[in-house]
Amino acid sequence: MSQEVGKIAVIGAGTMGSGITLVAATSGIDAFQVDVSTEQLDRARAYHAKVLSRNVEKERMTEEEKEAALSRISYCSDMGDAASADWAVEAATENPEVKAALFKTMRETFPDHAVLATNTSSISITQIATATGDAADRVVGMHFFNPVPVMKLVEVIKGLATSDETVARTVALAERMGKTPIPANDRAGFVSNRVLMPLINEAFCAWMEGVAEPEAIDEIMKLGCNFPMGPLRLADFIGLDVCHDIMMVLYRELGDQKFFPCPLLRQLVTAGRLGDKTGHGVYEH
Ligand code: NAD
Repeated sequence: MSQEVGKIAVIGAGTMGSGITLVAATSGIDAFQVDVSTEQLDRARAYHAKVLSRNVEKERMTEEEKEAALSRISYCSDMGDAASADWAVEAATENPEVKAALFKTMRETFPDHAVLATNTSSISITQIATATGDAADRVVGMHFFNPVPVMKLVEVIKGLATSDETVARTVALAERMGKTPIPANDRAGFVSNRVLMPLINEAFCAWMEGVAEPEAIDEIMKLGCNFPMGPLRLADFIGLDVCHDIMMVLYRELGDQKFFPCPLLRQLVTAGRLGDKTGHGVYEH
């Protein structure tokens, strides 16, 4: 396996994929930003230009550095155009069927030395790897956090067949991208969401039972636990649908009732109140 990562393909140009592409480009790595939606590619392109221009205004980088970063990014609606990448990170929709189909194509598209990483929040790495057949040793969880340019953590998840070499290379790449990688094993939700989601769920239950209003719940957790934002505000930021889907994966995989989404959370999702992205969630945005 070659150790050199010259080019990265980031599959998915949404919230997470656009951030991963930006961090790769500002770390000096050529990046292909891939998405089936040209609208999402245009949105990612605008986001990259906006963030880099803001960095120049705030004197965090020079105009030349901004132009160099932008010139490293290619936007592709066909994964085949990114076939020369020697690393792929999938950041598409959190759906097992979508990811299985993508990993089959990724296996066929990228060279045999390429690591095939996924940014999934909760889906089993071992399960995703089965779609690649004989390449399961090169499949790994590379779980970035939102917003990617700001958040330092990358949770590195080893599937059953992931080789130690793949994990070591993922740790090295995360460090090259200025992140702090921390390894975890492949159990539903890994560490971050396994611990976070019950907290968020309990906050919804406390609200539903009338223990306190959302503002008070969030303020108590901020001031009492030194959280930068309360759990209900964080749920809006993540997306209530995303929280719901992750809780369902935890519930199904771990079989414990405590992970089952609170009825009030389910109700808000059914009503289309998904948080920041729809303008309404726990709060009005
Ligand atoms: P998003 O909905 O913002 O973006 C998903 C993108 O994937 C869309 O642009 C969509 O067009 C694209 N896509 C769907 N199918 C595709 C395909 N077959 N080929 C190429 N592109 C395809 O989602 P997101 O919030 O960026 O989440 C992406 C992944 O990252 C998910 O697995 C999610 O669980 C994970 N994640 C999300 C967060 C978060 O806070 N939002 C944090 C960590 C991890």
